[in-house]
Amino acid sequence: MKASRRRLIIAAGLGFLGLAPGVAYTYSLLQPVRHWLATPIQICVTGPGHASITADDPDGGVAATIQALNNSHPLLAGTGWNVVGPVGNVTNAYNCNLPWQLGDGRPTIAFNEMIPGTCSGSCLAATFVGFYHCNDARHPDGHCLIDDSDVETRRNTRDKWGGPYYSLYELCRSGKEWNIEAIMVHEVGHVIGLGHSSVSGATMYPSVSSCNPSPSTLSSDDANGVDALY
Ligand SMILES: [Zn+2]
Ligand SMILES: [Zn+2]
Repeated sequence: MKASRRRLIIAAGLGFLGLAPGVAYTYSLLQPVRHWLATPIQICVTGPGHASITADDPDGGVAATIQALNNSHPLLAGTGWNVVGPVGNVTNAYNCNLPWQLGDGRPTIAFNEMIPGTCSGSCLAATFVGFYHCNDARHPDGHCLIDDSDVETRRNTRDKWGGPYYSLYELCRSGKEWNIEAIMVHEVGHVIGLGHSSVSGATMYPSVSSCNPSPSTLSSDDANGVDALY
């Protein structure tokens, strides 16, 4: 997800993101189409968290992110990916203290830039989506299966793009902070197999303005996307 002074480009997950050919104003799926074999997808959210959350914002931002991902946030109903779809619980985020490592099979969110230089410019967070395989006998419908997907967060560089971040538990400093729950619900959309949406206001729209928590709440377009995958 990327930052925008108004609303520009949020985030591109790292990897290939493709719009459905010939279809305007809709969600997209990562290409080749892929999803996790089983749900709920267990998502590890590592402590101690982003420097701006733990140092400047002692506000429970890590816990609030987990609650947003699990649709259990006390301040905002309807967040995350568990509110739609025939599956019910698509994701199960939990607080963990385990290593963030690409390709290890454990989808992990870190509130820090884990691979220096991969989330620069107006990037707020990025998801590494390159770990999947195809032609698995356990799932013979032609889809590929995701093996791992990990999220990193822009380092707190004190510039207008790099945070700090705020959670729904506190007031936002306009133009200087971005809502961490909104960013992470967007990134988890990539984790579960979604690309970017061309629908302005959708969670998977590729950019967000400062102090805007709305991507933490799915739009119908996002719901259609997750329904297509699970
Ligand atoms: Zn994105
Ligand atoms: Zn499938």
